[in-house]
Amino acid sequence: MASEGDFSKEYTLGKELGKGAFSIVKEGIHCKTKKVCAVKIIKAKSLSAREQSKLERETRICRLISSHANIVSMIDTFKDKEHYYMLFELITGGELFDDIVKREFYSEEDASKAIRQILDALLYCHEKGIVHRDLKPENLLLSSKVPPADIKVADFGLAIELEHPTEFNWYGFAGTPGYLSPEVIKREPYGKPVDMWAIGVILYILLVGYPPFWDEIQERLYKQIKEGRYDFPRPEWDTVSKSAKDLIMKMLIVDPIKRITIDDALHHPWVRGKEASKMH
Ligand code: ADP
Ligand code: MG
Repeated sequence: MASEGDFSKEYTLGKELGKGAFSIVKEGIHCKTKKVCAVKIIKAKSLSAREQSKLERETRICRLISSHANIVSMIDTFKDKEHYYMLFELITGGELFDDIVKREFYSEEDASKAIRQILDALLYCHEKGIVHRDLKPENLLLSSKVPPADIKVADFGLAIELEHPTEFNWYGFAGTPGYLSPEVIKREPYGKPVDMWAIGVILYILLVGYPPFWDEIQERLYKQIKEGRYDFPRPEWDTVSKSAKDLIMKMLIVDPIKRITIDDALHHPWVRGKEASKMH
């Protein structure tokens, strides 16, 4: 498994690339080859047995799904007394989150391309029985700072492994509030469709720069989500194509069984680029 030894003798750490709830990610340079990578650093000393097994799950999943153009690939893992290190290919374009903030919103053409790539990556994961559970713009990275950049799905820290392709089960309450699906909030059995719900939320945000469900009070936010209560406020949605709205409505269907599947979403005319408006 992970190589043991003194990480600092093999790699030099550089600037911070990002931070998550459980880790810090820094640039790393391999001393011998001078190759650059991204190093996710987790404090290993204070890990409980449960956290340890979660980390092993993340590593196992990353290994399984590392060869897709739209998924950040893991190169190696490393362990010393203090820390656990996961080495990934370095993605230099930053988070989709910051790019949306910078651009305010995406054109339909750019959003359609981004969603197609996310769906492609998800199809690959789901075919291997992996559900991401934490899709959001902070976990979607851009391959380059100059457009047209490709999307790279990152952070499989909350991802789960299904035993059967269509399995629905209660795997615990996990995710990020604004992206949680109604079934998770209702504490019902869930499966692959939770990722499609999150993509629906992401698509909505891409097109206007704000989320479909929002309230400062979490209970009220969860009530909105459970009821699937959102709208397309004027005037900003007036210029968005009917086709884009049709897809959002199919992704944000409260009943996970009726929600659009990845296959159908990939065949949707808006995703195939035929009906993305050039106006918005
Ligand atoms: P956490 O599980 O703690 O949320 P992530 O895997 O999401 O950790 O990483 C945290 C942040 O670090 C990401 O949101 C991103 O900004 C940055 N990051 C992660 N992986 C890479 C990478 N391969 N290349 C560049 N930046 C990365
Ligand atoms: Mg993250």
